[in-house]
Amino acid sequence: SASATVLERSAVIDLDAVRHNVRQFVAVASPASVMAVVKADAYGHGAIQVARAALGAGARWLGVAHISEALVLRAAGIDAPMLAWLHTTESNFQAAVAAGVDVGISGWELDAVVAAAREQERPARIHLKVDTGLGRNGSTITQWDQLVGQAMEYQDEGLLRVVGIFSHLAVADEPHRPETDEQLAVFREAIAVAEDAGVDTEVRHLANTPATLSRPDAHFDLVRVGLGLYGLSPFEGQSSAELGLRPAMTVRTLVSNCKRVPEGQGVSYGLNYRTSGESTLGLIPLGYADGVPRIATGGPVRVNGVNYPVVGRIAMDQMVIDFGIVGADEPSLLGAEAVMFGDGADGGPTADDWAAAAGTNNYEIVTRISPRVPRIYV
Ligand code: PLP
Repeated sequence: SASATVLERSAVIDLDAVRHNVRQFVAVASPASVMAVVKADAYGHGAIQVARAALGAGARWLGVAHISEALVLRAAGIDAPMLAWLHTTESNFQAAVAAGVDVGISGWELDAVVAAAREQERPARIHLKVDTGLGRNGSTITQWDQLVGQAMEYQDEGLLRVVGIFSHLAVADEPHRPETDEQLAVFREAIAVAEDAGVDTEVRHLANTPATLSRPDAHFDLVRVGLGLYGLSPFEGQSSAELGLRPAMTVRTLVSNCKRVPEGQGVSYGLNYRTSGESTLGLIPLGYADGVPRIATGGPVRVNGVNYPVVGRIAMDQMVIDFGIVGADEPSLLGAEAVMFGDGADGGPTADDWAAAAGTNNYEIVTRISPRVPRIYV
């Protein structure tokens, strides 16, 4: 049955933790508002569920990368202000205009969204994006006045409303670096240019999670918070708990095999690990098809209050931990709960631990937990 599947292997999403984290950010950002960034299925946590929880806890806006992601939220009946900022020439601007989804505009999208507005006989809602240094989307500052001027002409024709001006930061997770100041200066310049051209926006927004926490001078009217909503820390060497955040996702399963093996037993493809003595191996039914990074051998799995490193190669469906000698009188760990990561309480493994084992960041660890792992909401 479905519930048996969930008991076997699941990503448990604690929506109370999400609400707690949202309230933290609402307080930190005040008087600025909070946009809950729920792209990529809310970093793997479930976009619709997280969006509802975040709005209920005080977030005012929702942010996604793709229009298609916004349309899923609208189809679920979520009517909060919503911004999508990453487009292709095949993106469905018509549907965005029809659904009242705000569109981030870096340049070429302006004409596309205006064409959609004409077709829909409804003004588009847009946020003009300036590249203040990240080098991805956004108008260069040299072309900014042209973009602003064109947008104002269309606004005067009733084809769109410039709802916002925004940019994205490159190194806010490293607070000592000087480039954030430089990006702030360019952002202020862009705002001044737009105001001179008569733009009167509802929201100017720049800050992501790390800037919301460390740069009050970057809050403006709205902060776009992703990672922090999920209770994860953007700062290397600073834990969730130290930031007052509660990790919302726990990936857990059950030990699916447990057996006594002799010294020298090879483990998994390549036989890269061999037991150093008689030992007991535990099989964990999570692998790279579930989103465990294949490179992350050594990552911790908690069973019975102990964190065991994964030994040998991580396979598509499974990985192995070495319990060490388990005394003959000890109960078998077959069927014991195995936690890959969770909120880290009592020394349990975290997404940060897996990020370290995989040489990546905690964003990637939670986001890549695949749809094969059922989400359950508590
Ligand atoms: N704003 C934009 C434009 C983004 O692409 C993202 C995510 O990368 C965010 C905000 C949220 O960033 P974070 O998860 O660090 O809060």
